[in-house]
Amino acid sequence: MGVQAATVAKGRQPAPSFTSIRGCESDALDSILQLARKIRAGGVGHSRRGLQVNLFFEASTRTRTSFEVAGRRLGLDVVNLEVASSSVSKGESLADTVRTIDAIGPDVIVVRHSRAGAPEVVAANTAASVINAGDGAREHPTQAVLDAMTLMDRFQIASMADLRGLSIAVVGDIAHSRVARSNLSLWSLAGANIRLVGPRAFLPPGFAEAGWDVHHDLENGLRGTDVVYLLRVQLERQHGQMYPSMGEYHRRYGLTKHRLERLAPDALVMHPGPVNRGVEIADELMTDDRCLIQDQVTNGVWARMAVLDFLLDRLEKVSC
Ligand code: ASP
Repeated sequence: MGVQAATVAKGRQPAPSFTSIRGCESDALDSILQLARKIRAGGVGHSRRGLQVNLFFEASTRTRTSFEVAGRRLGLDVVNLEVASSSVSKGESLADTVRTIDAIGPDVIVVRHSRAGAPEVVAANTAASVINAGDGAREHPTQAVLDAMTLMDRFQIASMADLRGLSIAVVGDIAHSRVARSNLSLWSLAGANIRLVGPRAFLPPGFAEAGWDVHHDLENGLRGTDVVYLLRVQLERQHGQMYPSMGEYHRRYGLTKHRLERLAPDALVMHPGPVNRGVEIADELMTDDRCLIQDQVTNGVWARMAVLDFLLDRLEKVSC
């Protein structure tokens, strides 16, 4: 799992990292999912010692809070580095910032950055385990873990492999979504049937050619699916190639109760947040029993505790 051969401070060995789902083995992911359930059930995982540094270069509410709560519940000391008031704002490079943090001796660095690949730069400059909390439009691996956990709960299934055959429609700005990339990797590994739904501009180039089940029409994309996974329109990553208007997007791709009932009445609805109400999803669905958004947030803490615990457990061992 994403172990980096790092150039690190003298005398310290590089630790296992979790920077992407791509390249992970299903056994490792399933172990993390089982661990998350055990931790939730009160079985294990509240007696770690160590230092976790949260290094967030991009805005975040739920992910940063979730990592902070997860670390504290495990017993770790957690430090949030305020990037705006750090030396980064004076022009220090990412590598230099990380080397400085590394010299303080963290066990885990959780990093979010607007550039794809930043977690690997961090991992190459520290002996700590690195967890990717979102890098550009590339990956957000802990989101995929918490989403799998949420699906396993609702479908009452024992392991990740039981997601096989589940039909999941991912709707929206897939091209700019790191959540979509991590989830597509995990769901593919599990053998789920995935449909990609959205306007052409929001679908990554080459996906239809590569054999993905692509739909530009919401009706076809959603009909009979088990799960509708909605994505936020990523205004901050679109660099001007916007959909004509948010109202128009909602008219064509927004999920309303009426649409859900007509196309997939038993489907569960997920969204990684933050939600643009009235764009991807109608207000009325936010409190619907089929909407799992709050469960996703709650499971985020258990899933992140499991990832932290899993990595800390392997600090002295060979990684998975
Ligand atoms: N919170 C998720 C992320 O950081 C999803 C989003 O921002 O739309 O990628």
